[in-house]
Amino acid sequence: MYCPQCGRQMPDDANNCPNCGRDFRQEGQESMEPPRPGRSEIAKAYGTIPNHLALSIIAIFLCLPFGIAGLIQSLKVDQFIRSGDFEAAKMFSEKAKTYGMIGVIVGGVLIVLSVILSVVFGFWVFSWMGRFRY
Ligand SMILES: [Zn+2]
Repeated sequence: MYCPQCGRQMPDDANNCPNCGRDFRQEGQESMEPPRPGRSEIAKAYGTIPNHLALSIIAIFLCLPFGIAGLIQSLKVDQFIRSGDFEAAKMFSEKAKTYGMIGVIVGGVLIVLSVILSVVFGFWVFSWMGRFRY
């Protein structure tokens, strides 16, 4: 390799330049940092890490608190994918899925319960009114 400061050729594994004394160890450490993911990697991550946005929106209609919690996690998934932190994105993807599922299940159970209760109540009112007829 060549010294970036004085341009003189030197061994590839040299820690500092034998000519001008420039220290390369610090520069080497800087380049050890993981490179930011490119556009294609981010585009790929969008396809592989689901943000469960649709699930969260359904959960909002069925059970508002869990739906909102899920939606916040969903938005963080996209945010972390954009910043290139795919591990955090995956974590929030799982959270969004969990909140969304809980919201759909809790909301679904509540709707089924209210339907059952109104049917039972309807029959009760019906039979109560029937007593006056006879
Ligand atoms: Zn040099």
